[in-house]
Order: sequence, then C-alpha cells, then structure tokens
Amino acid sequence: MKLVLVGPPGSGKGTQAKMLIEQYQIPQISTGDILRQAVKDGTPLGKEAKTYMDQGALVPDALIINLIKERMKAPDCKAGYIFDGFPRTIAQAEALEKLLQGLATKLDAVISIEVPEDEVVKRLSGRRTCKSCGALFHVLYTPPAKQGICDKCGGELFQRDDDNEATIRQRLAVYRTQTAPLIAYYTKQHVLKVVPGTGEPQDIFTAICRALKNEE
Ligand code: AMP
Repeated sequence: MKLVLVGPPGSGKGTQAKMLIEQYQIPQISTGDILRQAVKDGTPLGKEAKTYMDQGALVPDALIINLIKERMKAPDCKAGYIFDGFPRTIAQAEALEKLLQGLATKLDAVISIEVPEDEVVKRLSGRRTCKSCGALFHVLYTPPAKQGICDKCGGELFQRDDDNEATIRQRLAVYRTQTAPLIAYYTKQHVLKVVPGTGEPQDIFTAICRALKNEE
C-alpha cells in the first residue's frame, strides 16, 4: 500500500499515519520528522533546512526530492509507505510520480484530511511531542497524565519551534498557496479520497480505512 496524507499543518496527518502503520505494517515517511532529526544532528541538510523551517517556509524541492529518493531505497519500503507531509508542491508531486514510474509502481491513494483553519491554529498552539518516542499530545484536548511527561514511554514532552502563532499563520498561508493545489492534481488522477478531519482520531481513522477498503 502506497499512500499520501495531505492536509494543513495540524490536521492530524502524523496521528493518522501512526495508526496506519499498525494497520498496514508499512513505514511512515514524514519529511518534517526527517528534517527535524537532521537539524538536531547538525548535518549539512539540517543546517540548510533550519532557516526555512523556522520561518514556516518550505525547504527547496531539490533537497526534499533527494531525501525522499534515498529514503525509498531502504528495505522497509518494499511493502509500501505512508508519506506524511510530502509532497508539498506540484513539483514534488511530479518528481514522486517519475520516481514511482521508474519503479513500475504508483500511489494507491491520496487521503486529504480537511480541517478548518481556526481549528488548526488551536490544535498546533497546544501541541506537544515526546522527545523519545514521538507520541503526540495536546495540552487541552489530549493532555498527558503528568504534565510534560509522555504517557507511553516517560520521555520529556516539548513544543516544536515552529508551533507558535506567527509561524503557524505563515505555514497555513504556504499550505493554501503551494500545497492545496495538490488536491486538484490528485483529483485529476482519480486517487484522491477526502476525509473530514474533525472529531475523534479513532473515528477519522475508521473513515480513512473505509475509504481505503476499495483500494486493497
Ligand atoms: P511538518 O512537520 O510536516 O509540519 O514540517 C515542518 C517543516 O518542515 C515545514 O514547515 C517545512 O519547513 C519543512 N518541510 C517538511 N516537509 C516538507 C516538504 N515536503 N517540502 C518542503 N518543506 C517541508
């Protein structure tokens, strides 16, 4: 199963990807997570990406496409993958299409998770992530039992540098202009499935699974 999750920042792509991993036993490929790790490790990619990420801008397509090309070579990608936060531009989508053609394969589905912008701002400003296992929490909606500590592994929770209101607004503007055109792009290719992204994560997951049933 080869999937793409599209949606504004804070639409729940990461949460749903983690549930899909269990269901389909395929890895999540989050370009955001890969870039954050590169920033943390201080690699040349991380150093270049950080300036863009801190401003809520997109990292240049060429860097992202290279990163994806390498990641797709890993053995765990044989049975498929869930792209989370990639592609983010039409140029990235076209590059992905070429890559997949070269491997004589194609996407099974693109899931568009729809959430209104004011809801997204509320979600992102309260979002917390576990430093150790990546589990996601929200200070109001899904708080951990102990403040600042991950329920799953006891790791420390942190707030992403780009989850502040000014950067969130900028990321949403970038989504509207550069990423939202992917909806029309994938509609034309007859692979787009639209799922409402408001409500309980489990209900959204059920809706995604229902949409994918026809693709198995
Ligand atoms: P995310 O965790 O998906 O919200 O990504 C965080 C930041 O990483 C974004 O605001 C961008 O600066 C950068 N980024 C992640 N994925 C991409 C991508 N596919 N293309 C360009 N920039 C990306």
